[in-house]
Amino acid sequence: MKITNCEVYEVALPNRRHHTWASKMVAPIGNHLIVRMDTDEGISGWGEAPAGITWGGAFGRYSGESPRTVRVVLENHLIDAVKGLDPRAMATLHDTMDRAVKGNPYAKAAIDMAAYDIAGKAANVPVHTLLGGQFRDRIEVAHSLGIMPIEKCVDEAAQAVEEGAKTLKCKTGLDSERDVEVVHELRKRLGDDVKIRVDGNEGYADVWEAIRVTRRQEQYDILLCEQPVMGTAPLARVAERIDCPVMADESAWTVHDILELVEHNAAACFSCYVTKPGGLYRAVQQADIAHALGMFSDIGGSIESGIGCAANLHLGAAIPIATLPSVCPVAKPEGAEGPDIAGIYYLDDLVTEPFRFEDGCVLVPEGPGLGIDVDEEKLRKYAVA
Ligand SMILES: [Mg+2]
Repeated sequence: MKITNCEVYEVALPNRRHHTWASKMVAPIGNHLIVRMDTDEGISGWGEAPAGITWGGAFGRYSGESPRTVRVVLENHLIDAVKGLDPRAMATLHDTMDRAVKGNPYAKAAIDMAAYDIAGKAANVPVHTLLGGQFRDRIEVAHSLGIMPIEKCVDEAAQAVEEGAKTLKCKTGLDSERDVEVVHELRKRLGDDVKIRVDGNEGYADVWEAIRVTRRQEQYDILLCEQPVMGTAPLARVAERIDCPVMADESAWTVHDILELVEHNAAACFSCYVTKPGGLYRAVQQADIAHALGMFSDIGGSIESGIGCAANLHLGAAIPIATLPSVCPVAKPEGAEGPDIAGIYYLDDLVTEPFRFEDGCVLVPEGPGLGIDVDEEKLRKYAVA
């Protein structure tokens, strides 16, 4: 089987509400690049690059990518490089991409996902079978609360919990008083059973502010503290002085980042993405190394459509370390059954069938490949000119 071509689509999905975090307060979510990979055997696969220009590694280590940069990298370099390759030959595919283009992992991840979708369909197995096999069939949803006024935040959280969410993820990092208060108010309103995790997105001014805020939040019981400051050494200094686990996200893109985090004792866990390391193939390598070194993870992402979400869920199904509640959105096309708030960030989706949300968890799609069908009419409807 050979890759014959890839079609690229830029979409902007309608947001349920403006979703923000410390390093992205302005741009809307859901402006993503979608790839359809075609083969000479008539099997096609789908991939997604949820690239954001303000999203990168510590100290500029990994640059921001945008839908436009991804389009340029794909159309001018990567698509030509992978044409003629067997989409099932993952090592060759990645070796070829890495020779053709340095960095740009989000662009490579879109190609990788589409190739896995094809490989799964060709073998008539779900993608997780190709990643080591199904270790679990669902991921617990952490409903993500953007940076919003506290009252709005708590009201939304209450609705999400009513719909079945058992974990909340609270975006923080811009105002330390607010960040303590919001955790306090969530705990007061929702009781002791709900798990609360916080994510500062490197927003705190320094290590000392991060330590002060986190220690105060710990009075109200937080599950973990995600990336409060920039960089591995600063994270280690925070980790030394707080009780809950530190999670690395912006500091955990590759296998090499995992080694650095462990060397510095900087984080107990990390946010494992399909996209940061450059695709499912690399993400499994990263998770395996982290597993061997005693780390655990959630499954993170950038609020993908059902295409990227499916890839995230197959990764989470296969890697044993993904034990933490995760911001895995519940993909739901307009008018479909499902929650209104819990795990819902868009008013519509590109996939034809909603993901199943049961007992606070999103179920890994069944069926060959990624286990999704894409509504190509929606690609046209939400196309960005
Ligand atoms: Mg994060």
